[in-house]
Amino acid sequence: MEARPRIGAHLSVAGGGLAGAAVRARELGADIFQYFPKNPRSYRPKTVDKDELRRQADQAARLGIESVAHSPYVTNLSTVDENLARLTRDSIVNDLEIAGACGSAYLIVHCGRYVEAGAERGREAMVAAVREILSRYEGDCRLLLENTAGQGTELGQTLEELAELVRVIGVDERLGICFDTCHAYAAGVLDFGDLDGFVRKWYETGMDKLVKVIHLNDSKYGFASHKDRHEYLGRGMIGRENLARFLRRPEFRTIPWLIETPVADESEYAGEISLARELAGE
Ligand SMILES: [Zn+2]
Ligand SMILES: [Zn+2]
Repeated sequence: MEARPRIGAHLSVAGGGLAGAAVRARELGADIFQYFPKNPRSYRPKTVDKDELRRQADQAARLGIESVAHSPYVTNLSTVDENLARLTRDSIVNDLEIAGACGSAYLIVHCGRYVEAGAERGREAMVAAVREILSRYEGDCRLLLENTAGQGTELGQTLEELAELVRVIGVDERLGICFDTCHAYAAGVLDFGDLDGFVRKWYETGMDKLVKVIHLNDSKYGFASHKDRHEYLGRGMIGRENLARFLRRPEFRTIPWLIETPVADESEYAGEISLARELAGE
């Protein structure tokens, strides 16, 4: 097995900031970590001291730790509500600016929920929102759309749908995808009964070029349950054996893996990261 995978987890930057989280990532055995650029329940653009963020980003880089940002959950790219759409766009542009100053290569956003507007109008709203966001942002942090479990009215469940969204939005190479294993399993997309078929579809839909980050999570609920509940690695419905089969495929080893399992304390991520390495045959 050629590439040594880069593995990490979602960490808090409250208190110690980016540099503190990078030190903790090191202690946990991580190569990379994910963080919220601002309060995950808030849209409000945050004013930051970019020079200070750059200093902290340099400290993280000196430790050899990479970072990836994740937008607040409250944003909704598919809403047809004008006020919420504007708040979402402003918030994500602000997140890209913060993430860029933090030296993060990627900002992950959830695909939208169209609620009562219907899938077609929701998709149109999302296309317009992402185009506007990337036209307003001049840096080089990339925006990654995350696949969903298909709860309620969420867009972006299947690989075909994600590929089509990226194609239609069509702005520039700053748009990519974050692939979550729990969401894909719950959406009925990541089928361990036919992993070869899944990998074939991965290439057919261009995921080998589009996916820049993998969210590595087990799932509390079953295949095609459409319920998004993460579970500790190996303790959910995907299980150790299937995770190991996934992690040993060469396609997935060159993409960083970020763990977002329901740990009670971040120190538990040390065990999750070493288990991921073990399952990957490291
Ligand atoms: Zn995720
Ligand atoms: Zn999730």
